[in-house]
Amino acid sequence: MTLLTGWGRTAPTAAHLARPRSREEVAELVRRASDRGVAARGLGRSYGDAAQNAGGLVLDCTALTSWSLDETTGLVTAAAGLSLHDLMKALVPRGWFVPVTPGTRHVTVGGAVATDVHGKNHHADSSFGAHLTSLTLVTAEGDSRTLTPADDLFWATVGGMGLTGVITEAVFRCVPIETSRMRVDVERTRDLDHTLETMTATDDRYRYTVAWIDLLASGGRMGRSVLTRGDHAGRDELPRGADPLAFAPGSTLKAPPWAPNGLLNPLTVRAFNEAWYRRARPATGLVQGIAPFFHPLDFVEGWNRVYGSNGFVQYQFVVPFGEETTLRRIVSRLSAEGVVSFLTVLKRFGQATPGMLSFPIPGWTLALDIPAGRRGLAGLLREFDGWVAEAGGRIYLAKDSRMSARDAAVMYPRLQEWRKVRDEADPAGVFRSDLARRLAL
Ligand SMILES: Cc1cc2nc3c(=O)[nH]c(=O)nc-3n(C[C@H](O)[C@H](O)[C@H](O)COP(=O)(O)OP(=O)(O)OC[C@H]3O[C@@H](n4cnc5c(N)ncnc54)[C@H](O)[C@@H]3O)c2cc1C
Repeated sequence: MTLLTGWGRTAPTAAHLARPRSREEVAELVRRASDRGVAARGLGRSYGDAAQNAGGLVLDCTALTSWSLDETTGLVTAAAGLSLHDLMKALVPRGWFVPVTPGTRHVTVGGAVATDVHGKNHHADSSFGAHLTSLTLVTAEGDSRTLTPADDLFWATVGGMGLTGVITEAVFRCVPIETSRMRVDVERTRDLDHTLETMTATDDRYRYTVAWIDLLASGGRMGRSVLTRGDHAGRDELPRGADPLAFAPGSTLKAPPWAPNGLLNPLTVRAFNEAWYRRARPATGLVQGIAPFFHPLDFVEGWNRVYGSNGFVQYQFVVPFGEETTLRRIVSRLSAEGVVSFLTVLKRFGQATPGMLSFPIPGWTLALDIPAGRRGLAGLLREFDGWVAEAGGRIYLAKDSRMSARDAAVMYPRLQEWRKVRDEADPAGVFRSDLARRLAL
């Protein structure tokens, strides 16, 4: 038995862990599963209990790493355990980029499909599922099925949190790039209204955009932000002699193996936020590498340990456009309560995929990291859940570790439809996870 947690390091549970090396081994393990069922796991970057299965079997898919690229069409066929980190190292020097990347490269293709990940380009390009042309799934009977967007099971699997089967392969379209650099504009906003106005008016000029919000700023500065927006740079924007497609990302720092609880407190985070806000000098046309633009956190290996042994809660919700009052209400409450969130990120979502349990809907999404030991946190977030649900919004299942089954059913109105498709594919309920049990999925 192995003790597993998500990236937030809360709620550990023990499971039998197996690391299949082929689709056949996946099928064999699924066929032999006990009545505690099977959950697939990638690199464990979901924050809560999605890739855990207490007392059952967890299939670590990271040994499934084959891939190929059709250089004329940009279609990639990748095994589910391949990380976006390894894929980018192969693709970028060949002039291609993944269609969507989350804020870390250390996720697997299977994890990206199962949570239908979004990136800074959701307003322009939607989420990962929109770029898939087919999937291979090992089903509850241990059969291998190839699914396309014409199949209901495809859209139950995209964003389906691994509960329809084990994804073993995905085919998706990549984006041609001339260089491995980004052309970036940086702007600071005065307060939340200024942030929302600026993003609404000018986000569409960029393929990638994100706002970092200083949650500890209060009064007239509440919601002040640093906007970082950009596009892939062209060859003519690089200095002469630069290798246009050079890409060698890595982590340069290692977080200490242990950190005291409470290291991130209002004092340290306020000082960090102030420095970050001031350091972000407004600029246009900065040329920056892919890694610092998309994955700044990946420079510090194991940064999640900085939260101490209590771990942390990531709270990410989306509310539809027109429900900005709910967003303001939550930001002002967090600011008034002095809730410490080291990294608070706001994005605008565009068109959703047909994924039945996919998180993104057109609207505003806010993500915050809060140390788990904070007194009163559970009650505060429960209150926010109610406001988000009332506004027609939802919490991201890949980040969640605490929501109730009742709220999940309200937030995900296609849950019944998804259950019907899932039940047809897996009538005995072979695929399970701690998250699925907690939310009665
Ligand atoms: C620093 C950081 C930044 C992030 N930024 C973003 C972001 O910007 N946007 C975003 O959308 N997400 C973001 N995430 C969340 C992350 O992208 C997702 O949780 C992703 O699913 C993690 O991939 P993984 O391989 O680690 O999957 P895991 O965490 O191991 O698993 C996640 C889910 O996928 C399922 N799964 C995994 N592999 C398979 C498979 N082969 N077959 C079937 N199901 C499978 C699991 O059962 C589980 O339900 C971020 C996470 C971190 C740590």
